[in-house]
Amino acid sequence: MPSANDLTRHHTLRLVLGDQLNPRHTWFETVDSGILYLVAELRQETDYVRHHVQKVCAFFAAMAEFVREIRGLGHEVKYLKLDESSKYKDLADLFKVVCDSYAVEIFEYQAPDEYRLQQQLGNFGAAASIEVRECGSEHFLLRREELGDYIEPARHNRMETFYRKMRGRFDLLMDGDQPLGGKWNYDAENRHRLQPQDLERIPEPLLFDNDVGAILERLDRQGVDYFGKAAESLFWPITRAQGLELLAHFCAACLPHFGRFQDAMTSGREHGWSLYHSRLSFALNCKLLSPAEVIDAAIESYRDAGGEISLAQVEGFVRQIAGWREYVRAVYWVNMPDYAARNQLQAGRDLPGYFWDGRTRMNCLHHALGQSLEHAYAHHIQRLMITGNFCLLAGIEPEQADAWYLGVYIDAIEWVEMPNTRGMSQFADGGWVATKPYSAGANYINKMSDYCRHCAYDYRQKSSSDACPFNSLYWDFMIRHRGRFEANPRIGMIYRSWDRQAGEQREAALARAQWCLQHLDEL
Ligand code: FAD
Ligand code: SF4
Repeated sequence: MPSANDLTRHHTLRLVLGDQLNPRHTWFETVDSGILYLVAELRQETDYVRHHVQKVCAFFAAMAEFVREIRGLGHEVKYLKLDESSKYKDLADLFKVVCDSYAVEIFEYQAPDEYRLQQQLGNFGAAASIEVRECGSEHFLLRREELGDYIEPARHNRMETFYRKMRGRFDLLMDGDQPLGGKWNYDAENRHRLQPQDLERIPEPLLFDNDVGAILERLDRQGVDYFGKAAESLFWPITRAQGLELLAHFCAACLPHFGRFQDAMTSGREHGWSLYHSRLSFALNCKLLSPAEVIDAAIESYRDAGGEISLAQVEGFVRQIAGWREYVRAVYWVNMPDYAARNQLQAGRDLPGYFWDGRTRMNCLHHALGQSLEHAYAHHIQRLMITGNFCLLAGIEPEQADAWYLGVYIDAIEWVEMPNTRGMSQFADGGWVATKPYSAGANYINKMSDYCRHCAYDYRQKSSSDACPFNSLYWDFMIRHRGRFEANPRIGMIYRSWDRQAGEQREAALARAQWCLQHLDEL
């Protein structure tokens, strides 16, 4: 409890959420002894979905380091660990008790990135008897109020159009009003498969050694239900200094080949799980790093590299952050809360059990799931074209897909998880994010990976008992939704290729798909 002295000292309580760990926010520029910061491990945040244990540990560990950092700057912080915060009924109760006990007159919070928290804080503000103020999080390139100028609600908005506007507005890789090098997009030069000699050169990932033993004990003591591989030493960056170190490592070791191998997948080699990806998403999403500084560092490395890093590599990276990351956030905010209820393909099947233990004979899924459960990480193409593609083809209920993605990945926060999962990967939004479904059979997976070579299923077969399930499920999905997709100019020709196949062949493929759907848990 606060002392009598504390009771008169603080006029303002400022809340810092677990994904708002930006020590460079203007809040922390000057020290004011009348301001008390509140940082709390919250049971509602461990429990709103079942989480990978490393994700919970990473957030709690980063919060502890953040508290240490801002206390070091001279700020006063009330830091509640789970054992203490669990005594309160809910978030509003906790805020009220803390505000009352310190007799503060003002409660301030940074605009949360999730709709759920925005509602909760809005409700708290409406009912509070003290002044409640919201301010910006100062993180994204676009301010929340601007999102509607870029993205229209309830319709498809092209990412490419959005991205070009962002490049121009923020002067990223521009030559006057034209894109540097004359092209906006270098995708055609990127996206190679890894050759055997490339496997030798995959850089060793930079991993940190953060002790989370005490957090694990706390989670167990409080009976938090989690899944995934627990590790006392967490390798994800939990301080701004570690985030910056990882950024420097990425620019030096991974950026030179980032775009080239952006879509590649491999089960080989120790470092096949991390490849040339930055693994900066956690540091970005909890705001240890800002998108602007990450983009600037990549562009500066490209400029300083004297031709060692091609424009295609750095453009591919800038596109992910100034393009996709800002775009999905805008789609989320202009469409919430309706977005969370969309299920345009009326998918309703249950997620198979192997999503929780990785035990399946489908080698691609075995690897993508196994790696996700081990490291709380899979790269974009594994999320989109292996796990996501499988859920799409099998017609998994979007709520269940969302909950799995939101729980498993170290970087998963609803504003970014949902448009990627429900939108881009499951097409449940009916095409507000993607112009066509990201559906594919084994041809694509075999082209971009070495998974099929070591699989119990035959990637060339569609209907035999050892035929790759992705092949028949792909056709079943396309036929199931023929009415919706046939007129789409980007995929209409697929139906013409289907119609040219012999009748028995088509029937056999669809029969195999039915078998797979009926035995989904056994594949
Ligand atoms: P890199 O490959 O190194 O890319 C650099 C950065 O670009 C990332 O750190 C990320 O900040 C940004 N980025 C790249 N693609 C996207 C994208 N599509 N949307 C938003 N940002 C992007 N990303 C999350 O941050 N949280 C999620 O919960 C999440 N869920 C996803 C679910 C599905 C089904 C899919 C297909 C993608 C999801 N993504 C999510 C996007 C992307 O897969 C991850 O951002 C990326 O894999 C993180 O690893 P990285 O930092 O090594 O990325
Ligand atoms: Fe995956 Fe099919 Fe290839 Fe096996 S054969 S790895 S199930 S795509």
